[in-house]
Amino acid sequence: MADFGGEVEAFRADARAWLEANFPPALKTEAGRRSGDAKVWRERMADKGWGAPTWPKAYGGGGLSRGEARVLAEEMARIGASNPIGGLGIMSIGPTILELGTEEQKKRHLPGIARGEKEWCQGYSEPGAGSDLASLQTKCEDKGDHWLVNGQKIWTSVANLADWCFCLVRTDPAAKKHEGISCLLIDMKDPGVETRPIRLINGDSPFCETFFTDVRARKDDIVGPLNGGWTIAKRLLQFERDAIAAGLGGGTLTGPASAMSVEDYAKRYIGLDGQGRLADADYRSRLVQHRMEHQAFQLTLRRAADEAKSNQGPSNAAAIMKYAGAKVAQDRAELIVEALGAEGLGWDGDGFEDHELAQVRGWLRTKANSIEGGSSEINLNVVSKRVLGLPDPK
Ligand SMILES: Cc1cc2nc3c(=O)[nH]c(=O)nc-3n(C[C@H](O)[C@H](O)[C@H](O)COP(=O)(O)OP(=O)(O)OC[C@H]3O[C@@H](n4cnc5c(N)ncnc54)[C@H](O)[C@@H]3O)c2cc1C
Repeated sequence: MADFGGEVEAFRADARAWLEANFPPALKTEAGRRSGDAKVWRERMADKGWGAPTWPKAYGGGGLSRGEARVLAEEMARIGASNPIGGLGIMSIGPTILELGTEEQKKRHLPGIARGEKEWCQGYSEPGAGSDLASLQTKCEDKGDHWLVNGQKIWTSVANLADWCFCLVRTDPAAKKHEGISCLLIDMKDPGVETRPIRLINGDSPFCETFFTDVRARKDDIVGPLNGGWTIAKRLLQFERDAIAAGLGGGTLTGPASAMSVEDYAKRYIGLDGQGRLADADYRSRLVQHRMEHQAFQLTLRRAADEAKSNQGPSNAAAIMKYAGAKVAQDRAELIVEALGAEGLGWDGDGFEDHELAQVRGWLRTKANSIEGGSSEINLNVVSKRVLGLPDPK
């Protein structure tokens, strides 16, 4: 636990007292998380502004410094609590509106996000535009008193549950590829919005195909300059990659929460030799390599957070952490499933323990870690061009 000294440590005492008085202990159990206590906890955190701890109080945030927010996270972890308010509102569009939106947009959209009352989805990818995002074709026409949107998005996480979508649309079809794009906020309750959930390899349906047919949007719901959406889109991706990396580091995007570490799995399923070492020497050396990379990743995340002296937010270096976090998460899942052996072949039914099935499903989920929020190859391209300043290959 870092010691931030002075005022930040004084904040620790206050935060600890408040959390101990307000966090419902029942939420530490699976049954409790499904009970009414979950709502109580969300409302208490929202009233305190700690769902978005570093946002200004005027927009529903907690007005905390980064150091204080870090202390708050540590204090929550200490008592087994977590922030009940999250999603793409908190990790992507909220920080973008805060930095680049108009005052009116901040007042209208941020409090609902900070209170966890409005769910947002991200309308970036299209069937013909993934890594090459600027190829997007969703059409947005100026109809005088409103925008009219027609087109299709894909892989839109939680679109079927979302209240709002931050969407990249083409507002000037005649302009060069990167120059005719705008970032538009679309109300998902518009009758022209249709969502169709897509089923994933692990059985979940976390994302959708999203169709826009004559959808109307407000004129003042463009974030940033008209036709200047590419810059907004890139900044938003930095916030998103930074948050994904932190999630991967904290284990929230790495599959099932498990009381057992990768070492526990190895010891239980592979076993020990006569000298008390893991019985498989090759596995042992790969596990050591993974633990070193995992530790280096965690320490780098911490160092980056500690070194951030202001609330400036992430840079292109977020691509490094997103890339590294995805690799560490996937390596961990591979090692666990390999250790499970025949018990790692289960999908459903008898003959397997619940945590074994959960690990197999979690392993499949980690396949997405190197795709969502920009693929690993694209993140390496960003590192090469924007962090290292290397030229394009001839
Ligand atoms: C779990 C999950 C959730 C998602 N949620 C959302 C969401 O909410 N909203 C949204 O808009 N999108 C979402 N996506 C989509 C995601 O952003 C895209 O899948 C991703 O950007 C890659 O695009 P693509 O799938 O079209 O692959 P492609 O762009 O077709 O890429 C295919 C392969 O080619 C490689 N490749 C492509 N171009 C290059 C290049 N120039 N150099 C090197 N390699 C390259 C890629 O790395 C990849 O391995 C989600 C994806 C996943 C897996």
